[in-house]
Amino acid sequence: MTKQLVSDASDAHLDGPWNTSGDAPGEGRIFTGAWVPARGGVIEVTEPATGRLLTLVGRADPADVRAAGQAARAAQPAWAALLAAARARVVEDAARVMGAMGDVVVRWLMREGGSAGGKAQVEHEHALGFLHHAAAMALEPRGHILASAPPRTSVAERVPLGVVGVISPFNFPLVLSIRAVAPALAAGNAVVLKPDPRTPVSGGFLIAQAFAAAGLPPGLLHILPGGAEVGQAMCADPDIAMITFTGSTGAGRAVGELAGRHLKKVQLELGGKNALVILEDADIDLAARNAAWGAWLHQGQICMSTGRILVHHSLHDALVERLVAKARGLPVGDPLDGVAIGPLIDAGQVARVHAIVEASVAAGAKLLAGGTHDGRCYAPTVLTGVTPGMPAFEEEIFGPVAVVTAFADDDQAVDLANRGNYGLAAGVIGANVDRAARLGARLRTGHLHINDQTVVAEPQAPFGGMGASGNGSRISGPANWDEFTTWRWTTTQPQAPAYPF
Ligand code: NAD
Repeated sequence: MTKQLVSDASDAHLDGPWNTSGDAPGEGRIFTGAWVPARGGVIEVTEPATGRLLTLVGRADPADVRAAGQAARAAQPAWAALLAAARARVVEDAARVMGAMGDVVVRWLMREGGSAGGKAQVEHEHALGFLHHAAAMALEPRGHILASAPPRTSVAERVPLGVVGVISPFNFPLVLSIRAVAPALAAGNAVVLKPDPRTPVSGGFLIAQAFAAAGLPPGLLHILPGGAEVGQAMCADPDIAMITFTGSTGAGRAVGELAGRHLKKVQLELGGKNALVILEDADIDLAARNAAWGAWLHQGQICMSTGRILVHHSLHDALVERLVAKARGLPVGDPLDGVAIGPLIDAGQVARVHAIVEASVAAGAKLLAGGTHDGRCYAPTVLTGVTPGMPAFEEEIFGPVAVVTAFADDDQAVDLANRGNYGLAAGVIGANVDRAARLGARLRTGHLHINDQTVVAEPQAPFGGMGASGNGSRISGPANWDEFTTWRWTTTQPQAPAYPF
């Protein structure tokens, strides 16, 4: 592989053990506890803002999945048999290493994922939060003593599943991988992680580096960048007990079907079309800030992005005026230039966003700002007069588009918010908190934020949606024991009973 990598001094971090170790520099590698050549060739990782080649990594193929599943299954029992405190220490040490890697992590998130600097920093902090939370989880009580007839003792205990397969997306690559990897390991599982092939370093290899430096024994964590075929091989692999998937509803459906056929536990965290309801007593300046943040943060590429801004008709014009002013004022471009709005992940996504905007305008929506792009940078966009049936109202856009719809009363707001099959997050903004909460309780979502926009996540909070936003499972906080372990019931007696025959 002779392709020229970016190479000035500030790019020193772009090379890593995924392409420089061993006897074949430049060859793409994957992580199996060691950095080894991949069977599927090489992935060229490019920078969305510039199109430049950043680095080369190994492309896993289904045979790599098979080998990883076997190695992970072989390594897992010894890890599960360790004192919980020993596992907690490794996870806590990974947090310490990941903390010390802050500058490099943030730079990768900006360059590989197109994250603005603030988003990248918050993502790094959240990743540390997930690691700390997982380390603490390892030491929590994990079972019950059940009522039983003496002298029999009866214990229900949470035990690891074995090997957990993690499939993660590009948009918050570090956090959406770590939120599964860390608790799965802490609970005593081994992990096979497939990051999105567009973000294999921040979604996988940086995590491998942190855990390797923290002393995680080899074989317990495998990082296999690749496409759908690698994810599908994981769903069918006999040594992988569970799949936790974060991504689009379409791919999640395929993952759920295949994992179900192979009798695997499956957790699906999917898309959203999240409503922010702005009531007539809301502070209009705060409401506009919340709407803009929820709709445009990370270019709208967040499952919790505010996908519908539902505003009481009395505030509609004032809100739109503020959104348009913000849209025109926000700097857009290369994250390294300190912008607020970076690029979309790839050209296909730019085309998809633009098609939704154009089709909605053709159906009668008004385009008041944006609607244009420069390369992969899509301008913050404001669409008003958006009604049910228009693509911008119905579809998850995954682009920086503020979709504004006016409502007349609470019943109409609830009806508009609940339309469609997604049910991930909702926000309600109003001065009367009780009333806002009463309206919020009528929304069919897994997350509800009174006086906040829709993009909110914390390591200690159960995350997940209803309807097409998932399969009813939750991840993070108290949900992690449910997700990453299963029950084992054990009874013990001093002597075997003398049964009648
Ligand atoms: P995607 O579904 O195309 O890809 C996600 C991951 O799944 C990638 O690693 C991809 O390679 C893999 N994949 C794709 N098809 C697969 C298949 N058939 N079998 C196995 N693996 C497959 O998603 P995307 O477009 O890259 O990401 C954006 C989507 O993810 C949006 O819909 C967004 O709402 C959703 N998302 C959800 C959450 C959540 O927690 N609910 C968080 C972030 C993103």
